[in-house]
Amino acid sequence: MKIVLASRNKHKIEEWQATLRKYIDGVEILSLDEVGIFGEIEENGETFEDNALIKAMAAAKSGYLSIGEDSGLSVNALGGEPGVYSARYAGEHGNDRANNELLLSKLKDESDRSAKFVCTIALVDPANTERYCFFRGETEGTIIDEYRGDGGFGYDPIFYYEPLGKTFAELSGAEKNAVSHRGKAIELFAKELAKIKTTE
Ligand code: IMP
Repeated sequence: MKIVLASRNKHKIEEWQATLRKYIDGVEILSLDEVGIFGEIEENGETFEDNALIKAMAAAKSGYLSIGEDSGLSVNALGGEPGVYSARYAGEHGNDRANNELLLSKLKDESDRSAKFVCTIALVDPANTERYCFFRGETEGTIIDEYRGDGGFGYDPIFYYEPLGKTFAELSGAEKNAVSHRGKAIELFAKELAKIKTTE
């Protein structure tokens, strides 16, 4: 079974492949480049679901079962910010340090530091793009004022995960996957995929 993941990031494709293998055999994840879909996909949705679906719909042009993933951080005291703007909160796409600094400055006098990471996966059937569904994983944590750990990416160094007493940047890849929003969403997706596969 081949599935297209709406991404060009080799690392992400490999991570997905490895995580899926834990739950289901015989699934090959293809990137957009591998199915000849080039160009930017404009992620202009207002929710994680909107953006995941925009990406999955674009990938479904390949004719394969397709998935889009969107994720980000939602901070309670900021009404859910940075949300769908997580990657470009401070303006420049992917400037993690600037994003973290902006977030910490907005939370300077705030006592409620609760937040959650969210990951949404959209699955689209290319034979009928009206047929789609979502899988959502969430992990709660606290935003701390110091940077701790060198692992991960994005907001990981300031996202403190109470049950393990560490920030996400202090966890190994496997440790993070076991508790992360993305790990949870992929697990839900994989279990559904296993059902689809056995009924085919
Ligand atoms: P995207 O889903 O690849 O568009 O990621 C959105 C943005 O959310 C990333 O650039 C990060 O800023 C943030 N983000 C999503 N997942 C994580 C995570 O696991 N750790 C830290 N930051 C994350």
